[in-house]
Amino acid sequence: MKQEKAVVVFSGGQDSTTCLFWALKNFAEVETVTFDYGQRHALEVECATDIAAELGVKHHVLDLSLIGQLAPSALTDKGIEVADGEDGGLPSTFVPGRNLLFFSFAGILANQIGAKHIVTGVSETDFSGYPDCRDAFVKSLNVTLNLAMDGPFVIHTPLMWLDKSQVWELSDRLGKLNYIRTKTLTCYNGIKADGCGECPACRLRRKGLETYVGKQSGNARPAGRPAEEVLQP
Ligand SMILES: [Zn+2]
Repeated sequence: MKQEKAVVVFSGGQDSTTCLFWALKNFAEVETVTFDYGQRHALEVECATDIAAELGVKHHVLDLSLIGQLAPSALTDKGIEVADGEDGGLPSTFVPGRNLLFFSFAGILANQIGAKHIVTGVSETDFSGYPDCRDAFVKSLNVTLNLAMDGPFVIHTPLMWLDKSQVWELSDRLGKLNYIRTKTLTCYNGIKADGCGECPACRLRRKGLETYVGKQSGNARPAGRPAEEVLQP
């Protein structure tokens, strides 16, 4: 894969930033794409732009504001409160079919810039009820993209079967745990790094980090650092 070019679907959050570092390790050339769809906080696009600039990676921002028109949700409409899905239902942040659109546009962009590989941080493990985060969907869309553009696209999902603590573990293996912890934005309330600590995204991120650090105590640490040091801000 080393000689080839990849596009990373990039939001400036923990998962996609981990994927970006994974791609930088695995591909000769990497570009990123962020979709601007009237996020609850424009800070998300700003955060992605800052990280891409800092890493010297080309960053495409595509305007998909029509998503907010089609499916107002907690991420796009400040009037709707962010909440977990009840009784296994979908969370209020759900924008139906969002990844179908995102990955289709990523495929078209990949075609334009001559990239064969598309990398996304979707995960079936923590998929929160989003059907278009599932492996079967990604594989099906991969086939569809190839049929649509006669392309040799390969969609990579390095986080598909990882839980949040394993995502932290991967970022540590890549030597980027602290970078990801301090520079990324996952919080629904638009606060970088450790976030507000209260919203579902912050709770999931924090729990994963604590579980990962807990697993390190008493075990061999890949980064060779004490657990307490990993938890330092
Ligand atoms: Zn939060």
